Amino acid sequence: MIVTRFAPSPNGMLHLGHAYSAIIAHDLAKTADGRFLLRIEDIDGARSRPELAEEFRRDLAWLGLECEEVPAQSGRLESYQAAAQRLLDRGLLYRCTCTRQQVAAASLRIGPDGPVYAGTCKRSAPDPSRPAALRLDMDKAIALAGPLEWEDEIAGVIPADPGQFGDVVLVRKDEPASYHLAVTLDDAADGVTLVTRGADLFDATHIHRLLQALLDLPVPRWHHHALLLDESGKKLAKRRGSTSLADRRKAGEDGVLLAAQLRLQRFPAGISLSKA
Ligand code: GLU
Ligand code: ZN
Repeated sequence: MIVTRFAPSPNGMLHLGHAYSAIIAHDLAKTADGRFLLRIEDIDGARSRPELAEEFRRDLAWLGLECEEVPAQSGRLESYQAAAQRLLDRGLLYRCTCTRQQVAAASLRIGPDGPVYAGTCKRSAPDPSRPAALRLDMDKAIALAGPLEWEDEIAGVIPADPGQFGDVVLVRKDEPASYHLAVTLDDAADGVTLVTRGADLFDATHIHRLLQALLDLPVPRWHHHALLLDESGKKLAKRRGSTSLADRRKAGEDGVLLAAQLRLQRFPAGISLSKA
């Protein structure tokens, strides 16, 4: 059975790009008699606004998308801790006390997520009394896992290349996981068989595939879809004030009709679909 999910973070209202993403995930599951899940990704403590989850549920219902809600990330912290401990016990994680500025200053190259960590704290263990993030020892992890590949429904079979990210953070200083660790564990726990999300997260899948190998998790397939772009060719973003679904809903717009138009790739003026 196909199981897909929509996994929004409650740090801003949903916009048309989210609607497009949710429709794709919903339809891929429902046309195959599968299940479509909603998971609230709320562990980004500082920016998370719990009250938005209720708006998200209303947005999906307004679009005519029936979903099954699974526990939010804040209810799964123990599973993140347990997985991090397993990796720690095998010597695959190390403590890092560097600030963002220190990471950037020491970095020798830029990866898909910004400056690649130079490994300073791997070479000299930092002060144990200071708050630390836990980073993955990427070279060790790749050597242990061996060559891996993953399959995207659109892009085909992709050789996994997590090395380009360097020693990524798996446990943040302020949270019991990072996005990469949490999303990989959650998709496995929820039985997601087809991970649908925007092409902006395509590269992150290299890391997720590696984590699946290290943690003996089932390997789903992926479907990275094109993104909605605004007039300036940038992806729609909460920050740039794209009209939210909640605003459209509260203004009395017909959500089911909007969903039908998005399915036909008929977008409001100024909005287009990226090529990737
Ligand atoms: N929570 C992430 C976001 O809102 C999406 C995670 C995912 O689909 O893997 O961007
Ligand atoms: Zn460090």
